[in-house]
Parts: sequence; structure tokens; C-alpha cells
Amino acid sequence: MASSHFQHLTQWEVVVCKECRYAVWPRQVVGHLTNRQHRMPRKQAVGISDEIEQWHGIAQFSGEFKIPKYVEEAVEGLPVYTDGVKCELDEGQCAYVCRNMDVIKEHWRKMHGHSVGQKRGGSGMLKKEDIDRQILQNCRQVRCQRFFVQKEHSQYFEVRSREERREGSVRQSEEEDIWSQAWGQASQRYDRIRSDDTIRPGETDEVNPWLRRTGWIPYLEGCDRKDILRCLKEPTVDEEIAEGENEANDNERVAAAIWEATGELASASQDVVSRSGVMLRFEAIRTEAHQNVYRPLEPYQNRDEIRRQGRYWQQIVTFFVRTRRAHSWKSPPYKFNRRQDRAFERMMVVARSTVKEADESSDTESDSTDTDSEAEREEGKTVMTEMQQACLSFCIELLNQTIHNREYDMALVCGLAALGVNPSGRGFRGADTYPSILSAVIKVAHFMIVQQAERLTQPTADECNEFSAGRSPCEFEDSGYESEGTQIDRGEGRRKIGKSSFEWVRKMMDGFMVRGCGSPMQWMLDLRGYGMKIDFNTTSAGHVNWRDGD
Ligand SMILES: [Zn+2]
Ligand SMILES: [Zn+2]
Repeated sequence: MASSHFQHLTQWEVVVCKECRYAVWPRQVVGHLTNRQHRMPRKQAVGISDEIEQWHGIAQFSGEFKIPKYVEEAVEGLPVYTDGVKCELDEGQCAYVCRNMDVIKEHWRKMHGHSVGQKRGGSGMLKKEDIDRQILQNCRQVRCQRFFVQKEHSQYFEVRSREERREGSVRQSEEEDIWSQAWGQASQRYDRIRSDDTIRPGETDEVNPWLRRTGWIPYLEGCDRKDILRCLKEPTVDEEIAEGENEANDNERVAAAIWEATGELASASQDVVSRSGVMLRFEAIRTEAHQNVYRPLEPYQNRDEIRRQGRYWQQIVTFFVRTRRAHSWKSPPYKFNRRQDRAFERMMVVARSTVKEADESSDTESDSTDTDSEAEREEGKTVMTEMQQACLSFCIELLNQTIHNREYDMALVCGLAALGVNPSGRGFRGADTYPSILSAVIKVAHFMIVQQAERLTQPTADECNEFSAGRSPCEFEDSGYESEGTQIDRGEGRRKIGKSSFEWVRKMMDGFMVRGCGSPMQWMLDLRGYGMKIDFNTTSAGHVNWRDGD
């Protein structure tokens, strides 16, 4: 039983979760199996934990476990990352590995007293190209792994063998592969690639109707593709570095909290949709103000698909998080409106305090948060965390905008342009691939509308749970109910203040989710339609690869 969930790495004296592919301390097995990822009933988790206790040769405490400086062969059961960056200072004796250039710069400053960008002698700044060359000389791209993902012992270490993807070795996620390719190219043919990667007008054939329609080239002019791809990357945190010690790493921690919450938000929103009535779901799928729809909004057929499809929203939100803070690269320009700005700031405040809390609670290593949510789960409802709510508000505000003059005045359209950069080489995503990304963004946006409506009505629903939530559209003064006392009256009066979930969905749909609003959603719907049309026309008649419309 336990062995179907955990693998015992006898050489390293740790157990690795087979699904999550990272090591878990024996005393945290129960907490791990009852977390959001596994959602196992506590009783069963305790059974597995008891079984693992019988296994011999497992380090019980962090003090009994030591991270290797490097390994020759990849450790079985752990993912291999190809985007590791190893410090090469001290004649290559330093074994430090991380996966983030900002983190290694901070490492150099702290551990080697070496500040990037200064000429020898300390004064005078170098040109950007020289700085980049210096960086590339002082580090090396490596494959790496780590045992634990949090706190102690989450330090990465180098995997020395170079063989790629033998049988049984780990399939990297698309982004990681691509990222490491970009990195490898950068270090080999640096100068040339550097100049080639800057987006300029005229470099790609502007006559391409798809690119002309998207407006990506003029919008992203002067930006470096690699910078944009890096900006969309899933945040990686070096847990070994304590909070407050390294600003770049702290920033990544905040970004990681937001990334994670946005992912959870997408799947929580899908859950709400699956519990919603069919009339509401018909309302929530409209793309026109007056439209007969024949299929209601549905969750993904394979519910886990949301993790992949929700990723684009994670990337969009992360794009704003990373471009909003101080950075040294040229980022695409955009502006928030007042509501977006407020929602964004709020999200950042909550994220910072979430990171702080997580830090404090993980010091005591309690699993209390897992037990709270168990009761909620039984009801089939999960209460959103403050962090998820803040992400939801920000996403909704991104959608809640109408055009002034140009599309790129709308922040979400700018974020979507970043997703247009092709991660696997030169240029941009074409009409063959981008519409399916838009489909995912659109569908998850619909999920979030339903979630937002549900959130807005929450307090009223709780207050009046003794009455049915469906209310009477007409209230007749002469009803005989008055004799029953004032209680009902007050109840009705209170309910009158709040809209129902259905009404909120309708209001939001009409406000900024259907064609004719001049909203980011209209941009997405129209661009998707256009992309599908030209892709259809350029695909040979026998090879129609029309994607599912949702
Ligand atoms: Zn797991
Ligand atoms: Zn070092």
C-alpha cells in the first residue's frame, strides 16, 4: 500500500512521493497525503504513514540527511532539471547550483564578494554585453536535481552524467526544455543570438497577416525574446536562502505564492462551475449579448486538465508581477487602470504576508491547515484562501475593461502578447497554435466569472440559509405574510440588497465578456476566430485540425 505512493531510496535514506516526485520526511507523510495535491482521507494516510515507519533506514530528521555536492547519475524518482546554473567561482570548487540567474548573482555577492557589472578595481560600470559575458564565464549550465522542495535540504545539486533521456529518465516540461535550449544557445553563440533575439520591426515578414493582426511586432519592439520567456516562467525559489537575505529570491517567493494560488483558483473555479445549475452555465458561456447557446459551460472532461489549461493565466499574472517590480531588462509597456492597480497592489500585499506566514508556520512544522480544510471538503465546497481571492479579483479586473482607442491600452491584451512569443525558437506562435491558448484563457475566464459571482453572493447565502436562495421576482404588498411577523420581511429585505449568483454572472457577461463590449475578451474571441479561420484555410482540405471550440 505505502509502496504504491512512496519510493524508498535506500542509498539516500529518504522516501519520495511517486506522484509529486520529491522527498517527504517520515513525520510529514500524513500532512503530505492529505494536502491539496492528494486529498487522501486522513485515516488512510495514517495507515500509510504507519507502514512507512516499519521501513528500515530512513532518515528521521533533517540532521541525519546530507545533500550531496553532486551525483554522477541522476537520483531515481526525482525530476532532472536541465536549466540548472552552477557557480564556477573558486576555480569551479564552489558546488552551488540554482535555477535562476538573479539568485546566482546574489550568491556571488554574498558568498564570493563578487559584484556583477563592476570593472576590476571596483569603479565604473560595464556595458550590458560585457556584463552578460562576465556572467556566462562565472557559471555553467548543468543538469540538476533536489530532494526536498521546501526549506532545509531543498538545495539543488549537479547531475554530472550528460546522457539525455534514457528509458525511464524524466520527461521535462515543455518550458524547461525550451528554456534550457535558449540558455545553451545563449552561452555558445552569445553575441549573435543577443542581437538576433531583439524584436524589431521588419525582421519578420510583416506581410504575414496573422502577425499584422496580432500587432505583436510593433508592441514588443525592442524587447528581447528570452527576457519575455523568462518572465513567463514558473517561479523557482531557493528555499535554502532565508527570507530577507536575498531580495531576488524573496521576490520569487512572492511570485511563487501568486503562481500557485492562481493555479488553485483555476481549479477551484472549475469546481464551482461543476456544482452550478445548467441555466447559470448557459448564461456563463455566452459570447454575444443576445444569443441562443446550445451547450452550457462545462468543466474539462478530464478534470485534471485544468492544471495544464490554467497555466496560461498563471503566466499572465506572473508576467505582471515580474514586470511591475524593478528590473534591468526592457519589458513591454502597459498601464493598469485604477481598479486593476488597486487589485494588483492588494494581491501583492496578501502574497507577501502569505509568504511570511508560510515561513513562520513551516518553522513549527505543523499540519494544522490540512485539518481545517477537511471539513469543507466533505461538503464538497472549498473556501477560497485570501490569496486565491486576491488573485481572482486581479484576474477579473484584467477582464473588466473596455477599449479606449488602441487594444494595447488594455493590460490583459499586453499580457496575451507576451504569450505570443514562441518558446521553441524564433518568432511568434502562429495561427496553428495560438488559438488553442486563447481557448484555454477564455474557458478559464468563464470559470472565474462563475467563481466571482459565487464569491460576491457568499455572505447573503450564509445569512439566509434557512430559506431557499431563489427569490420571488415580484413582491406583493398585500401578501398575507405580514401576519407572520416581521422576521421574514427583514430576511427578504436583506436579500434584496445582494444580487444572486445568476444575476452577477449575467451582469459581468453583459458588462465585459461578450462581443460588443470592446473588452479584452472580445479581442480574444475575435483573434481566436481569425486564427482558426486562416489556419483552416491554410491547412489542406483533407487535414482539418479544427480544435474544440471551448
Ligand atoms: Zn505527493
Ligand atoms: Zn559559488
